[in-house]
Amino acid sequence: MRSISIFGATGSIGESTFDLIMRGGGPAAYRTVALTGARNIPRLAEMARALQAEIAVTAHDDLLDALRDALAGTGIDCAAGAAAIADAADRPADWVMSGIVGAAGLVPGLRALRHGGTLALANKESLVTAGPLLMATAAKFGATLLPVDSEHSAVFQALVGEDKEAVERVIITASGGPFRSFTMDQMHAITPAQAVAHPNWSMGQRISIDSASMFNKALELIETREFFGFTPDQIEVIVHPQSIIHALVGFTDGGIMAHLGPADMRHAIGYALHWPQRGHVPVERLNLAKLATLNFEAPDPARFPALRLARDVMETRGLSGAAFNAAKEIALDGFIAGQLPFLGMAQVVETTLSQLSRQNSLQIAATALEDVLAMDHLARKTAAEAVKSWQAKT
Ligand code: NAD
Ligand code: MG
Repeated sequence: MRSISIFGATGSIGESTFDLIMRGGGPAAYRTVALTGARNIPRLAEMARALQAEIAVTAHDDLLDALRDALAGTGIDCAAGAAAIADAADRPADWVMSGIVGAAGLVPGLRALRHGGTLALANKESLVTAGPLLMATAAKFGATLLPVDSEHSAVFQALVGEDKEAVERVIITASGGPFRSFTMDQMHAITPAQAVAHPNWSMGQRISIDSASMFNKALELIETREFFGFTPDQIEVIVHPQSIIHALVGFTDGGIMAHLGPADMRHAIGYALHWPQRGHVPVERLNLAKLATLNFEAPDPARFPALRLARDVMETRGLSGAAFNAAKEIALDGFIAGQLPFLGMAQVVETTLSQLSRQNSLQIAATALEDVLAMDHLARKTAAEAVKSWQAKT
């Protein structure tokens, strides 16, 4: 029987993973080791009961008693806190979903890789923050890292059986989000409630806002570079409002392989769950005649500066990815809290990167966890100051 763990079980990716595991037979077909969540204790407990998990962990120390109460009499172990989540990754499982949001997913992912097996990586922030460390850890311990982000799963699938040397270009698609056709003036007044409403995908709050600002696509550019090793000039972004094509890979003979599918993350999760086979995944089947048209347009760098910032990070590498992601997380917190306007997020990230680059601290390679975590911490502090000085200005 295959053993599994789901980190970030109560989130959007976690729920889709849980759905596939339950449809695939639940506890009769999979032995569940660990499930983790944060504030939604009732849902975490319900999932742990349904899958008869060995352990359930909440990220919040103050919720340990609530989790214990919810799982009383089940024999399921309970734990709380960031260290307990990382410790849960030390319980070996054949297949682990990395579905936590933010840099908080990095350490649990690294710890899971140390046991071999497969890490299905939805948590793009860990590749952006510490790509070389993550890839080296997987190689050292013979673990398999599979992309779950829809674009990266699409590229991965388009590369099956191909010679990577024959790849000329990789194109990842972006829906353009809810503000694709907003004017610059309209963009000044965007609220968090508007930004969270994604036209095609149903996702967690943070990634939805990142999609609206194209910071999500910026993270994905860096993710493409780190995961597949293509050079920055080989990687392109095209706006495709229907979100039907997820990525395209162009080869030296001029041919292009495109990956199409419905906007349902269960396809990419299911691909990673059944890999290297193809399983039966209950997503909607595409009706091309009904779709009729697929549109494409170039992204606008003026309204979506995150893409330009990502290009700098792809060139600099080193610890600039850790700084970029951390600054973005703080800027996003500021926007959600009403302390920063929508376009202020990119400015906070840019200010943070240029301050840290003047200190020459971005060039260090992202190969040691201490260096990565120190940069993550420093960039959060620098970005928080930038948010504060923004507030002082307005
Ligand atoms: P979400 O907000 O819906 O869920 C996040 C999960 O992480 C929850 O289980 C939450 O309890 C947990 N969590 C939050 N903060 C935590 C912390 N500090 N420590 C430990 N656990 C914490 O997010 P999501 O949309 O499911 O996204 C999860 C990851 O997958 C992100 O990295 C996102 O970029 C990536 N991703 C998501 C989608 C999607 O369709 N939702 C698509 C591609 C990639
Ligand atoms: Mg994506």
